[in-house]
Amino acid sequence: MTSRPMSALQHLLFCERQCALIHSERLWAENRLTAEGRVLHDKAHDGPDETRDGIRIVRGLHLHSATLGIHGVADVVEFHRPTEPGATSLPVPVEYKRGRPKRDDCDRVQLCAQALCLEEMLGVEISRGHLFYGRNRRRQTVEFDAGLRDTTLAAIRRLHELLESGETPPAAREPKCDACSLLDLCLPGALRFSSGVAAWNDRQFASLMETEG
Ligand code: SF4
Repeated sequence: MTSRPMSALQHLLFCERQCALIHSERLWAENRLTAEGRVLHDKAHDGPDETRDGIRIVRGLHLHSATLGIHGVADVVEFHRPTEPGATSLPVPVEYKRGRPKRDDCDRVQLCAQALCLEEMLGVEISRGHLFYGRNRRRQTVEFDAGLRDTTLAAIRRLHELLESGETPPAAREPKCDACSLLDLCLPGALRFSSGVAAWNDRQFASLMETEG
């Protein structure tokens, strides 16, 4: 099974077309939102690992799951002291996000995917993690309950299906497009063109024909 980046889950849940443009067609463009997110992640990864109040804090930990076919890097994983003697430390993933808590499941799914990787890598069960939002500078605890695990596993299955198909879903103009860094490449208003690179080539050709005409 081809291993896919966990970051693609967020793209998938935001817009399947965006996911295919980035991960199949290798298109990328940065806007203010993606730049702010990148800076926050870089900061979270910066600095040495440390131990505070008995909690080992590990930054930029590489994660993977051979079973699920996903990989990525966790901003921070805290290893908490076990409550029972002889037990192994309890890993708690912490992911840094720009903005404020979202109504959809994007961030929770990405965090849960990290937990699934950690569970497979370390042979432990992880019950919760945290999302830290830059806007309100607060942690939000996320319980990895059965519902979130099912949603995450379904998203991972759909990610493999979409990227293995090699197809890019057609563009549909929605309010969320205004926040999409690929808006200028995708052109969801131009219904005639349905896929990224091919669409760009078509537009160049059409524009040339118009100029020559
Ligand atoms: S502009 Fe809209 S349709 Fe196109 S990739 Fe972005 S969110 Fe999806």
